[in-house]
Amino acid sequence: MKKLVYMDNAATTRVRKEVLEELLPFYNDEYGNPSTVYSLAKAPKAALDLARRRVGRLINAKPEEIFFTGSGTESDNWAIIGAARARAAKGRHIITSAIEHHAVLHTCQFLEKSGYEVTYLPVNGAGIVSPEDAAKAVRPDTVLITVMFANNEIGTLQPIREIGAIAREKGILFHTDAVQALGHIPIDVTAMNIDMLSASAHKLYAPKGVGMLYVRKGVKIDNLLNGGAQERGKRPSTENVAGIAAFGKAAELAMGEMDGESNRLAALRDRLTRGLLEIPHTRLNGDPVKRLPSNVNVSFEFIEGEGILLHLDMNGICASSGSACTSGSLDPSHVLLALGLVHEKAHGSIRFSLGMFNTEDDVDAVLAVLPGIVQKLRDMSPLYEEFIKKR
Ligand SMILES: *Cc1c(COP(=O)(O)O)cnc(C)c1O
Repeated sequence: MKKLVYMDNAATTRVRKEVLEELLPFYNDEYGNPSTVYSLAKAPKAALDLARRRVGRLINAKPEEIFFTGSGTESDNWAIIGAARARAAKGRHIITSAIEHHAVLHTCQFLEKSGYEVTYLPVNGAGIVSPEDAAKAVRPDTVLITVMFANNEIGTLQPIREIGAIAREKGILFHTDAVQALGHIPIDVTAMNIDMLSASAHKLYAPKGVGMLYVRKGVKIDNLLNGGAQERGKRPSTENVAGIAAFGKAAELAMGEMDGESNRLAALRDRLTRGLLEIPHTRLNGDPVKRLPSNVNVSFEFIEGEGILLHLDMNGICASSGSACTSGSLDPSHVLLALGLVHEKAHGSIRFSLGMFNTEDDVDAVLAVLPGIVQKLRDMSPLYEEFIKKR
């Protein structure tokens, strides 16, 4: 059987062995509810404390500033809605970027329906927000700036520290969706002026359905959920102990491996990028340097991303066109359109996202089949035929 080549780590990751071992006991022997008083609660309670310290250390936060949630999406919703409601008396204006994940964009649109105003900052051709634009967008009634750390489609890294400094200076809360960044590139919430940060376990070799929100000490936001006293009363619901323990273990491992692993991935990324750009009429989307070590996003002119994906799948290769959340819809990616790509080019885009299980052989396997796939699809493409005739 042919080996599966999984290059969709920005969509989700495989749970690594050490993490799986950490989480299993909490489904059998150590199944106690951490909020109870008897000794069965001891191990689960200790697991929550340990995970909070481990995740906190990864971003230079105190354990008591980490709140575990049910997902990255929940964390984004909580940060934005919670901050908007807590500061409604001061104003109802929010600043974000045009290339956010839908967990942020759709939350902003939700608030627009209840009287909030949102400014969507543009990006340059490489997908980067300008801190000057952010500063210019600030109004007396601005209560929150939310700009993502690393983009999930094109991997672009944003000037977080600079945007955070602007927010801090003007007394505005600053939130960043760091779901794609946590554990993959260095984050320091203190040095980077971050008030709130969202992350998710399943993008870091831990299970789906666990997230976290960092809330800087002293920052007050409203609850999203109402219920018990868990997570210091701010995020009620019986804790996902196994998932949280797993998240902590993944964070701990990432802390030690990040430098070496990001260099290894960047070398694979560059090898893949070089090979792909040898295919004619192909462009790299996003910034060539300021990007995640794992991300390659390319547009193949004259053809559709969906067709490429199907052919890759027949060869045992998993990749993505646009983001997983939008595939199934025929709209081109809002991120690629924000870069200024015309619809046709945005349609022919593929994202490869590398991870810890990928090797040089995987990269070479993609490069062995993709030129043929692209040529085959172009041979059937009316756009390509037109282009050839005009030449
Ligand atoms: C995956 C992702 C999310 C959503 O996280 P879930 O845990 O799947 O809800 C939010 N933002 C970004 C940038 C992501 O990549």
